[in-house]
Amino acid sequence: MSARYIIRLDDITPGMHWGKFWATLSLLIKSKVRPLLGVVPDNHDPKLEVQPHRPDFWAVLRQLYKDGHVDIAQHGYQHTLWHRPGLPMIGRRFGFKEMSEFAGDTYASQLRRIEAGSKILEHQGLPTHYFMPPNHSFDMNTLRALKTCGFTSVSDGIALFPYQRAGVTLVPQQLWKPAWLPCGVATICLHTNEIGPFELRNIRMFLRSRPAITRFSSEASAMPPSAPQRALNGCFAATYAGIRASQRAYRGVARGSRPAASPEWKLLAPTERSSQSCQ
Ligand SMILES: [Zn+2]
Repeated sequence: MSARYIIRLDDITPGMHWGKFWATLSLLIKSKVRPLLGVVPDNHDPKLEVQPHRPDFWAVLRQLYKDGHVDIAQHGYQHTLWHRPGLPMIGRRFGFKEMSEFAGDTYASQLRRIEAGSKILEHQGLPTHYFMPPNHSFDMNTLRALKTCGFTSVSDGIALFPYQRAGVTLVPQQLWKPAWLPCGVATICLHTNEIGPFELRNIRMFLRSRPAITRFSSEASAMPPSAPQRALNGCFAATYAGIRASQRAYRGVARGSRPAASPEWKLLAPTERSSQSCQ
């Protein structure tokens, strides 16, 4: 028994590392995998500016979509991540860095920016109802704003089976490299800007093991989870949170510091903008 796997590629911008993007995408296409591309509509994050902009960025994406090679998701608006400590952010329980483009802002502010991003994608011929929050950080206002803007599905959430929240389907995303999960839907999040030969080899070996591959668009309109699936979602989330807490504690001990406050968090003033990339 095994999960069905979705592969998503984050931080797709005109200034991304095109060589790594093509190396990853061609491997996936050759293996008949249709990844979900997280496209930043109006990137302002300097960390994602790796190479000179390709002027045909939007035309390339349109062609890939038209040829059926990729699904498209809106990855935030400008990918500007701010340190937002102590907010009731979804994902905080799992120890994700408290960096967000949206969480903690008013509904009106989030709505305005999500809508602006959506209009850019639409204008470029890539309308989508799928959303991918930068740094896996969002709150209930984000989900409400997404619903108002017509988004149906979000690639995020620590669970095994897709579930609904605020009228939006969350298709879980639990992995940052190929790994086995026993059941449900597993999304592997890859940042192509950071993929080297070692990571490519891992992906190649994973695909050769003939995992059950699916695509985001096939899972995005899933039925609400059954009672056993909801129970499994709860168990998985609790286990995941426990493992992450242990890992943070171990790293804290290894660094000789207190586990609850990692150094990179303490370096940032509460309102200081950071260009750290997604986890
Ligand atoms: Zn990102």
